[in-house]
Amino acid sequence: MNQTTDTKTTETATVPAQMKPFLAMATPKELEIFIKKIGDNAYRAKQVYDWIAKKNITDPDSMSNVSAGLKNHLKENFSCGAVSIEKEETAADGSRKLLLKLQDDELVECAILGALDGRTTFCLSTQVGCPVRCAFCASGASGFVRNLHAGEIVEEYMLCCRLIGKAPDNVVIMGVGEPLLNLENLINALETICNPEGMALAARRVTISTSGWTPGIRDLAAHGRQWNLAVSLHAGDDRTRALLIPTRFRRDIRDIIDACKKHKEATGRLLTFEYVLLQDINDSTEQATKLAKIAHEANAKVNLIPYNKANGAFERPSKEVIKKFENTLKMLHVPVTVRVEKGFESSAACGQLRSSAAAKRKKA
Ligand code: SF4
Repeated sequence: MNQTTDTKTTETATVPAQMKPFLAMATPKELEIFIKKIGDNAYRAKQVYDWIAKKNITDPDSMSNVSAGLKNHLKENFSCGAVSIEKEETAADGSRKLLLKLQDDELVECAILGALDGRTTFCLSTQVGCPVRCAFCASGASGFVRNLHAGEIVEEYMLCCRLIGKAPDNVVIMGVGEPLLNLENLINALETICNPEGMALAARRVTISTSGWTPGIRDLAAHGRQWNLAVSLHAGDDRTRALLIPTRFRRDIRDIIDACKKHKEATGRLLTFEYVLLQDINDSTEQATKLAKIAHEANAKVNLIPYNKANGAFERPSKEVIKKFENTLKMLHVPVTVRVEKGFESSAACGQLRSSAAAKRKKA
């Protein structure tokens, strides 16, 4: 089966080699070959594929029109149900944050976010921990363990679909990890999720968020799929950005603008600059003015994210300062939004649910 088990990224830690191919990733053709090989009827492949792609089911025992023999063969030869819920939190507005356990007991987070207009967005993770280690982020603080397999990313998506009983309106690849450092698995996962013959999520409903890893942005542009791009800029100049993103994976703003332009030329899709607002670091009018200039050049909108205190190193600016920053961008004709808080009680920021679970495991 042509399922990705390795990655071309700069990271050496990859997915565990002992994993069987994921049933969630199997194509109709692959299922047909497998089913013929075990001496069953080829038409069974469509039945199994429909359970996977149309009903988001990967547990063969739940496939009611599949024979007991075939169920056993599927369980023996495929990884089925590799992602399970370890813990769940629900916010005041009904949004849900999930701590997910993988087959090797590693933990990742994902979220099902409800918008005021009734639309649902899934926020999915691509790595266990994160190698980028942004100064303000709980996911980075707990270090990097491994990349997620494409099948694990698809299973995250399917699990969320099962929970709400339907496909989401949007998917953002914005959970734990730097998606573009696990690009091959991410692309394979999204091609499965966006396959018009299968799960059929429209490519334009997907946004991939990166810390600004320009080699990955260029590879994504070369792939050419119409996925949206969100780049975490967090500063109007390289000197300020260097306070927030460590050297290893940080690229110059000039390089980011050029890579983003390439992506836009190749895909025609939206570009957003994400900007975590941190008191006395990047919340000045001068920074807003520089950000406006960059946004104009890259033809991007800006999403402001008031800092959610995760590790005590930074403070959130006051409401007045946030408003002033937003108004400066508006005055300079930059399309801007401010992220609405979901009201998760104990683990508002991404990565906190996983970090506190990891701390508890250490103590036990
Ligand atoms: S903000 Fe994103 S890229 Fe930075 S450490 Fe956290 S998960 Fe990684």
